[in-house]
Amino acid sequence: MRAPRREGWYPAASSKLLGCTSGDSGAGQGRKSYSPVKRRRKARRLSVAYEASEGEEGAGAERLQTPSWQPQDWRRQLDNIRTMRSGKDAPVDQLGAEHCFDPSASPKVQRYQVLLSLMLSSQTKDQVTAGAMQRLRARGLTVDSILQTDDSTLGTLIYPVGFWRSKVKYIKQTTAILQQRYGGDIPASVAELVALPGVGPKMAHLAMAVAWGTVSGIAVDTHVHRIANRLRWTKEATRSPEETRRALEEWLPRCAHPQDGVERAPSGGLPPSLHTDDSHPHRELWREINGLLVGFGQQTCLPVRPRCQACLNRALCPAARGL
Ligand code: SF4
Repeated sequence: MRAPRREGWYPAASSKLLGCTSGDSGAGQGRKSYSPVKRRRKARRLSVAYEASEGEEGAGAERLQTPSWQPQDWRRQLDNIRTMRSGKDAPVDQLGAEHCFDPSASPKVQRYQVLLSLMLSSQTKDQVTAGAMQRLRARGLTVDSILQTDDSTLGTLIYPVGFWRSKVKYIKQTTAILQQRYGGDIPASVAELVALPGVGPKMAHLAMAVAWGTVSGIAVDTHVHRIANRLRWTKEATRSPEETRRALEEWLPRCAHPQDGVERAPSGGLPPSLHTDDSHPHRELWREINGLLVGFGQQTCLPVRPRCQACLNRALCPAARGL
């Protein structure tokens, strides 16, 4: 059962939702507790929504988003995570999809390599994905080379990524589709990407961001899913990364605004380089959130026994406080 929606305070999630504690994945496998301590999730306070003023709604102005609900303290929690992640020394910072393709290859080949690294990365540590990509790239990683590689050899090259046997099949099927329908390139829409065998929503949104420079949505994996629930960044407890993505996109502003600290919808006039620069005040929050929380989940907010004593959010974190 899910906690019912209510205005103002709303009640504890059901005990079923808070039942167990270990493990990371959780998507579609029954509710796990994301609390570092086994305490019931009692109540969450709603924050006050903000609205655009008349001037802000005027011609040429960016329109403020007006979510009906935002998590309490999310800005301070986010700033604390940015501070903790400022060293950029988590595995995802060196080995994520942005670092696994050959920068000297043609743009089309780079995009294919990005998609392939994302397909390999599900249920797999970044180090293992990077090793598989290195072995594939050493042979020349293109649509043609993969189609010419027999399944047994491909399996040997990508082993030990998670579900490597299934991934051999999906990579071959997807690569054949890319050659037949897209001229060897990858499609440039989430709808077309998720229609490819072995490509899920998280991979599609990351592929759009990394390969095409387009922020199409928040990429939510098990780290983002777990941390969003621990920090109560979803109005209700969510059961899957996809559910978490929808819940986050309901209130998290797409883009930071430099003048007043208020986040607004992007005007569309910024160069992509600014959108993707984490140090720029106009950075895209929807893009930033994945790498930020994945690294935070790898280093501090671990799936099991999170390092709350070392976390700047320990006083602001409902899960750590047993709420
Ligand atoms: S205090 Fe920090 S590490 Fe602990 S659960 Fe909360 S966010 Fe995660």
